[in-house]
Amino acid sequence: MRHWWSAGLLVVVGLVGWCAVLTAPEGLRGGDLWPVGVASGVLLLAGRRAWAWLPPLAVVAFLGTWAGGRPVEAAAGSALGIAAEVTVVWLVLTASGRERPRLHSFADLDRYATASVLGAATAALVALATTAATGYGDPPLVALAVGATHLSSLLVVLPFFLSPVVEPPGAERREQVVAWLAVLLVSPMVFVVDEVPALGFLVMPLLVWGALRLGTWQALAQVLVVAGISCVFYTLGRGPAAWLPPGASPEVLAVLLQLYVVGCALVVIPLVLMVSLRRTSDREAASERDKLASVVDAARGVAIIGTDDGGRITLFNPGAERLLGYRSETVLGRTGRFLHSEEAIRAKAAELGVPAEYEAVLSALVDRAHDRTLLAYRRSDGEERVHLTTLAEIVDDRGRVSGWVSTSEDVTEQLETQRSTERALTRMKEVDALKDSFISTVSHELRTPVTSIVGYLEMLGDGQFGELSRNQRGAVARVEANSGRLLALVDDLLTLARMNDAPDPVGSGEPVPLLEVVRSGCAVVAPQADQAGVTLRQPGSRGPGPVVSGDRQALEGVVINLVGNAVKFTPSGGEVIIEIEQDEADDAGAVRLCVRDTGIGIPAEELELLFTRFFRSSTVRDTSIPGSGLGLAIVQGVVQRHAGTIEVESEVGVGTTFVVTLPLAPAR
Ligand code: ADP
Repeated sequence: MRHWWSAGLLVVVGLVGWCAVLTAPEGLRGGDLWPVGVASGVLLLAGRRAWAWLPPLAVVAFLGTWAGGRPVEAAAGSALGIAAEVTVVWLVLTASGRERPRLHSFADLDRYATASVLGAATAALVALATTAATGYGDPPLVALAVGATHLSSLLVVLPFFLSPVVEPPGAERREQVVAWLAVLLVSPMVFVVDEVPALGFLVMPLLVWGALRLGTWQALAQVLVVAGISCVFYTLGRGPAAWLPPGASPEVLAVLLQLYVVGCALVVIPLVLMVSLRRTSDREAASERDKLASVVDAARGVAIIGTDDGGRITLFNPGAERLLGYRSETVLGRTGRFLHSEEAIRAKAAELGVPAEYEAVLSALVDRAHDRTLLAYRRSDGEERVHLTTLAEIVDDRGRVSGWVSTSEDVTEQLETQRSTERALTRMKEVDALKDSFISTVSHELRTPVTSIVGYLEMLGDGQFGELSRNQRGAVARVEANSGRLLALVDDLLTLARMNDAPDPVGSGEPVPLLEVVRSGCAVVAPQADQAGVTLRQPGSRGPGPVVSGDRQALEGVVINLVGNAVKFTPSGGEVIIEIEQDEADDAGAVRLCVRDTGIGIPAEELELLFTRFFRSSTVRDTSIPGSGLGLAIVQGVVQRHAGTIEVESEVGVGTTFVVTLPLAPAR
């Protein structure tokens, strides 16, 4: 499609160029109205294939000029000049890499002016050289005329190929018609009434009017029309001839005329660009303003209050109206002082360490603009509400503070909830402590009588108070077993209570060889294992084994508890394997104690509750297997106090493995 445009333009260039040379005033050797602006357009429209259009363009330029009546050598010089000129124009305009250069900024304007001046200068230089070589015309005069004509052609026509910022007309239809009529009437008058050359100045304000009010395309078109009218009258022999002494060369006339057109173009085109840019940025600013206003209005849960540099309210958004109960129109222009009570200001000032004045509090809050702070606001109905507030300065483009803006949300309810949660938590901790101390006291008080009961039962069972019958012995044995369980429970409770107060065993602890601890722990459980028909496999002894630091008795308790549980929850015929593993590569210096059984297992979903006090898994709750659910809580407590961890893996019906990891004692 594009090359059709280029081809069409090429035809136009040829015809107009031919006519221009044909109708050139008598004796003109250079500076005829050759359409070089349109010729540059051929290349600009062709885009990446611009080079391909250069030879046909040169041929058309040659043919047009030659057919118009110029000698062959002059026509060849013209064609060469035009080809060089459009190449320069094209190169300058596309230097930034855009195929279709734009006229969207002052940098673009600069490039467009540079391209026009360099292009015209190139044509002038080639004209100077070829005129000197061929002797066809006075070289400096011809060069000047060619330069001026081509400059005006480029300045007037190029913007149409440069994709300018397009602004629609700002004027009503009627104003547009009047503006056009004025231009169409006044610009010929300059040439018709050529005794009054000052009429030429009348065209300028009309073009400025167009640039300000008619939008991009019409303003550019007006320059084109003025240039066209000027050229037609010039061709008809009217115009600035009258301004010159008789006998002035036609080239000087051409230069004068073209300077007039260049003047028009240089006034209008930058002005059009400025007006368009200004309108575009005004529109963008207005749309930004509208967007911001709709965001501010939509933030109904947030109070946004803006003030000017005197602290007077200039913005009170619907969120502020809703949260504070005032109508925007009743607060605009007032200072924000009335939004806070005396006490609120005093309290905030004390917290911030500033004098108890509104202004002092505000400036302290601005200094901490990044911190959100709690500030009490007084609603229109007198109710005091607490807002989480940020106060920030509004700084204008010159760096001056032009006001402040505060954004805040009402957090009164959240604060109340938070405070009651904290109160409840404190209360719960108190109750917990009370419960612990109660359990500890009761256990203490129970231990002595239960110990004495157990002692007397033993003596009874041994027959120290007389021989017992078989039934009596059976009853005493059951009472003894239950008393033993009671005693164990009391002991567990006491251990747990003591653990909270006892000093850290690791730092102050003795070196404890883990193997020995395992041995002695297993010795305690072994009779129970024998009775239950469960095989106990203890770790083999190679050397003294790893040593940890801590409380030997407590660690023995850990072994008894874990191995005892494993035996208790493993059916007859099963086995319990105890292993001590020490990773050679373990930099952290830790040792692992594993207790693995082939017992009933624990359901996966209950594993995380395993170490909570009084927990018993669903698999054992309905069985007659005795237990309090305190053992593992004690084990975990002891392990953690030895800076260790305990982990468990289990599968129902397959077995359970507990792994205790403890740090090794530091080498002595
Ligand atoms: P107790 O054994 O006195 O009930 P523990 O705190 O020692 O209390 O154990 C809590 C619960 O964890 C046990 O009731 C049992 O359900 C489960 N449990 C502990 N060890 C094992 C094990 N080796 N195999 C299966 N279940 C176990």
